[in-house]
Amino acid sequence: MTKNIWEKIDSEQELNHEELCSLLAMENAEQLELLYQKADKIRKKYVGDEVHLRGLIEFSNYCRNNCLYCGIRRDNKKIKRYRMQIDEILDTAILAANLGYKTVVLQSGEDMYYTTDKLVELIRFIKKNADVAITLSIGERSYEDYARFFEAGADRYLIRFETSNPELYAKLHPDSSFENRMKILNWLKQIGYQTGSGVMIGLPGQSIEDLARDILKFKELDLDMIGVGPYICHPDTPLAGNPNGTAEMTLKVIALTRIVTKNTHIPATTALATLRPADGREKALKAGANVIMPNVSPIKYREYYELYPNKICIRETERQCNDCIKRRIYSIGRTISKGYGHSLKKKTDNAIAF
Ligand code: SF4
Repeated sequence: MTKNIWEKIDSEQELNHEELCSLLAMENAEQLELLYQKADKIRKKYVGDEVHLRGLIEFSNYCRNNCLYCGIRRDNKKIKRYRMQIDEILDTAILAANLGYKTVVLQSGEDMYYTTDKLVELIRFIKKNADVAITLSIGERSYEDYARFFEAGADRYLIRFETSNPELYAKLHPDSSFENRMKILNWLKQIGYQTGSGVMIGLPGQSIEDLARDILKFKELDLDMIGVGPYICHPDTPLAGNPNGTAEMTLKVIALTRIVTKNTHIPATTALATLRPADGREKALKAGANVIMPNVSPIKYREYYELYPNKICIRETERQCNDCIKRRIYSIGRTISKGYGHSLKKKTDNAIAF
């Protein structure tokens, strides 16, 4: 690694594609540790020591799409499907608020059973009954739908692009196009959402050059939140038999995402913790991450939201997850935010002051 790249990181100069590729290709343990330390320093400077907890509610595992890597894809007939009813989702959101979470993330497959009216009603109910910010992660809808959810009180929207390589995107997503995903991300920003996206690390056919372009794409899109997790191969998908992504490459991308984008919210993902249950979350938090999304979905549903196999935290109660995550955060000298954890880039109409 040339001295010059480290100096550029220290002086916060922009890294180009070639430099990102050489950092992603790095394997020397000492140099990797140095990279994580530099990302951690930038994290501390731009987003501080607080970790934001977002309660994740996986409310339906029905999906109309057939993404090749996904365990809840439409054609997987082996999975037991479930849908939570509106009052059950509301009760879960209230439970999350009672556990002290200031955000709930409502996530599902692309399930049109939940009509625009139903979701608007749900968002209003939650805003009225629980003191939380709302993040939606429910896939592709129309501009009008997104606008109505925002008007109803949704604060944030997550929709990953998974890879910035349009050919690879097309191979993996038979039901959507990269172009449309970019259009949606622009709509969400126009409407006023705090907007999140992200990628999967180690997808079959993905190169280091692709990952470097992903990181530059994060910067170009000026995202508020960026989720980066490893690809974990699901046996009941067309990609069965492919190797998993690695924790190491995921940590490198997290660190470089922090270095390049500075003040975004970056979660330590459950997928990374699934690859490294002992310390995956702590490693991510020490390599640039500042968010954790504890699962608050009712236990009876959790094993069926199987985007990838062997997912952790599916048998623990909400309280046990809460205790475990807090212990892990305190063990590395970090604190837990009491605020909503809104974007550090802008305030939106729906963003409540804190
Ligand atoms: S990744 Fe999302 S959109 Fe694709 S099949 Fe899975 S749940 Fe559906």
